[in-house]
Amino acid sequence: MKFNRRTFLKLGAAGAASLGLEKALTGSSDAMELIMGGAEVSRTTGKHLKPVPSTCLNCYARCGNYGFNAYGTLIKIGPNPEHPNSRGRMCAKGQAALNLLYDPDRILYPMKRVGPRGEGKWERISWEEAYSSIAEKMKGILEGGNPEEFVFQSDRDITTADFIERFVHAFGSPNAFVHHPLGGANKQTAQRLTWGEDYEIPDVANTEYMLIFGSNPFEAHYLRTSFVQRMTEARSLRYVGSDLLRAKAKMVTFDVRLTQTSGRSDEWHPIVPGTDGVVALAMCHVIMEEGLEDRSFLRKWTNYSPEKLKKHLKQYTPKVAEEISGVQASEIARIAKEFAVSKPATTISTGGATKHHNGVYTERCIALLNIITGNIDNRGGYCLPKSFTFREPAPVPPVPRRKSKLSSSATYPLAGTELHHRVLPLIKEGRQTVKLYMTYQHNPVYAHPEGKMIAQILKDEDLIPFYVCIDSFMTESAALSDLILPSATFVERLELETPPAFEMVPFVSLRQPMVPPLGESVQISNILIELAHRIGGKMSSYFDFTTEEYLRQRIAHIRPLTKSGGLSFLKKNGVFYDQSMKPQYDTYKKKGFNTPSGKIEIYSSRMEAQGFHPLPIYDPIPTHQSIKSGEFYMIIHQWMVHTHDRTANCMWLSEIIHENPVYINAKTAAKYNLENHDRVKVISKVGEIETHVQIVEGIHPQVLAIGDSCGHWEFGRIAQAKAFKSNDPNTRLLWWEKKESGFFAEEVRGKGNGVHPKPIIPIISDPIGGGQCWMDTKVRIKKV
Ligand code: SF4
Repeated sequence: MKFNRRTFLKLGAAGAASLGLEKALTGSSDAMELIMGGAEVSRTTGKHLKPVPSTCLNCYARCGNYGFNAYGTLIKIGPNPEHPNSRGRMCAKGQAALNLLYDPDRILYPMKRVGPRGEGKWERISWEEAYSSIAEKMKGILEGGNPEEFVFQSDRDITTADFIERFVHAFGSPNAFVHHPLGGANKQTAQRLTWGEDYEIPDVANTEYMLIFGSNPFEAHYLRTSFVQRMTEARSLRYVGSDLLRAKAKMVTFDVRLTQTSGRSDEWHPIVPGTDGVVALAMCHVIMEEGLEDRSFLRKWTNYSPEKLKKHLKQYTPKVAEEISGVQASEIARIAKEFAVSKPATTISTGGATKHHNGVYTERCIALLNIITGNIDNRGGYCLPKSFTFREPAPVPPVPRRKSKLSSSATYPLAGTELHHRVLPLIKEGRQTVKLYMTYQHNPVYAHPEGKMIAQILKDEDLIPFYVCIDSFMTESAALSDLILPSATFVERLELETPPAFEMVPFVSLRQPMVPPLGESVQISNILIELAHRIGGKMSSYFDFTTEEYLRQRIAHIRPLTKSGGLSFLKKNGVFYDQSMKPQYDTYKKKGFNTPSGKIEIYSSRMEAQGFHPLPIYDPIPTHQSIKSGEFYMIIHQWMVHTHDRTANCMWLSEIIHENPVYINAKTAAKYNLENHDRVKVISKVGEIETHVQIVEGIHPQVLAIGDSCGHWEFGRIAQAKAFKSNDPNTRLLWWEKKESGFFAEEVRGKGNGVHPKPIIPIISDPIGGGQCWMDTKVRIKKV
């Protein structure tokens, strides 16, 4: 696409959408003749390469992208300027999807194990043999009359969750663990209980104030690139009427670490982990004491009176909050007043605040700040998500009558989602006999807490007699399977997406193959369709379509899209939205909130019925109350260039981040006589790891922080930092190649691979949401 001044003006970000801005930026109205986005020229022929519009999935933001291939090889992935969320931006991870596609250690053929489980001996087999053996096992389970002995787990690939659930339900099993929370189970539970949605969309591009609790969108967020560009806009040039103004949306961050986000904020307040809730409540207290609340909103749209709420908040003075959180009372009061008078304003919160034992309460406390100031679903405020709903094609298999014994609902009846990390431990407890365990792009051994225990469960052939792993790579979990089916990567698949829209106009985007699947790899939906037909009977009637027909039926009810050409339009353009639709704000005014009362439930009768406090409260974290001298709170964090367990095999990304020291505050390091690069053991109650020290100023003195995504012992040689010869000459040039011993003494070579922190994190859940408490691990540190 030719991207000149005109298209720039048309498509450009709100803050850049004018010639005046162009002048301001360049000093000339004629200087901006750019060609960017959607175009690539062959180096050999000089001709333009045909772009294939698609949708990234190297994280959950699902940005619009283009693939360019030459002579059947994908040579570049670039951004799609027409995509309404990502608007022509993408991150390094999106571009590095090429590394996933062409990883020399990728699994390209069906394989079955030939030695003892986990020994690493495999034999290539045909698809025919793979399909027959699985179908035979599944038919045997049906003949036994216990379809729930088939258990399926997949990762956060929300795109395929509905399809997999369809397959598992059609088989008659309730054990489909496929819907993974976007923002974490605790956040999702709190959001559902409070206003009936799974998450919020802070309308940051149009806000005046961003109050951030335990969130780091500049490095890691489930809507990252789309989110960050709007946060940046809110703090840069903006047109108001005909006047170019310097927008100065204020950004205040509470975090235990000086992250890329807190470092870019106007203010960073280090906070004791797990105490964000009490700070939010103290702010609510100040706002109500000062009479700065939006009383008419509270009366009309919430189920709790302002008078009662004010009384409830009396206990949470800034002084009380200071004693608990370490944040100065005067600062809490000042920020509260600023937030209340800045219109519009919004909070931003994710795992740093909510992946704790008190995560649900904390998220409800933070949401309350938006509620009492009336910043709900307004321009620049805390908005309801806007997206389309896809429909399952008829006939839809019924939800099996037998309840899952592995479901979280018995232990966590309020949980907004199934809790993946508890499924295998429940199998170990004997809750459910399993005959066939199947996973899709799911690596519980690496991704779940207490990974050693998870590995033992997968190795145990009494607990898991047959494990079918559908994946593109030999992950730590795939290595413990019996049969591996090679799945297509996301740049080879055909799928639909409808992420929440930042422009508040719902849209649909398409993921389509940029190249045909390599080797004999197959898209998951095609694998399941084939299996359904081989199992036969009623099951095959639920899969009487091709993947393309299935997708066509999923969007058939979206009239504006079908009128524009439906799937054909998406194949050509990658994305669709109704251009005549205005941004959707105040939507609750027509239909209320999706809660039992139709209002925002500050008072949750559902929580009360389960024995929890019905109001937003601060609930101290039990393990934190007994912390002794010499003990620390260990938190884990994401890297800007990695997505959890999925990207360490991307060479371009691992070149940037391939080791993970433990970050420690400078004063704490001095107290314990530690220096940079000292080797230390980090010890929790379930294990210990060894890494080296990195001393920093920007971290709470009681906190140790370790990044994830490193320390793989499977997942191919690049993830393990092993240099090797292959068709790609770069694989010999891994300058960060791991050395077996003494590698930290060397200056440059041999620093790669790092350590995996999750095995020393115990399985602990928030008692309300059931979400894993990733940030609550109590540890000691020992110099080695
Ligand atoms: S933010 Fe996520 S979806 Fe967007 S380009 Fe980066 S990896 Fe892809």
